[in-house]
Amino acid sequence: MGSLSLQGGETGYALTRFDALLAWARKYSLFQYPFATACCGMEFMAAAGPRYDIARFGAEAPRFSPRQADLLWVVGTISQRQAPILKRIYDQMAEPKWVIAFGTCASCGGFYDNYTTVPGIDKIIPVDVYIPGCPPRPEAVLDALMLLQEKISQGGRTDKLVVPPARIPEHLNKLRLSKEGGAAPQQDQSKEKAKHE
Ligand code: SF4
Repeated sequence: MGSLSLQGGETGYALTRFDALLAWARKYSLFQYPFATACCGMEFMAAAGPRYDIARFGAEAPRFSPRQADLLWVVGTISQRQAPILKRIYDQMAEPKWVIAFGTCASCGGFYDNYTTVPGIDKIIPVDVYIPGCPPRPEAVLDALMLLQEKISQGGRTDKLVVPPARIPEHLNKLRLSKEGGAAPQQDQSKEKAKHE
């Protein structure tokens, strides 16, 4: 579709689906609840500051009441004692709502291989996007936010992670196709033959 511009007193109209319009509005009006417990909190502040400026992505407004937020950032280590609090905050958020696990501690427990730490918040609540890193760079944080927006614009929350097709490396794309019943990855026949000889 070409670009649309109207001059002066001209009028016009655009056609779309209601669910697409709703998803578009949701994706650019995220109200975030930062649940920051540890050192990753500093990195979250860096992403929100003027250098990286998360506001450019329509996710500027922080809310410290779960009733007014639809994006829960879990930023830092979650101990067993904090787990019920995190769960309650998630439950109090109104639908539709999304969760980002910020850093390795929130994603899988990080290097805390002990009984006091939850080995990943997905043991308690559903997660939409995981951000690796200890701590993650602000660029990774912005990347995760854009992935979430992609997911919101596609509707539904069946996949844990949405990667725009153009950014899927070719070998992973082949693997995905073979899993879905499409063309299987090509075998290197000469290597296979040499293995058996
Ligand atoms: S991932 Fe690293 S930086 Fe983040 S809370 Fe855990 S230990 Fe701290």
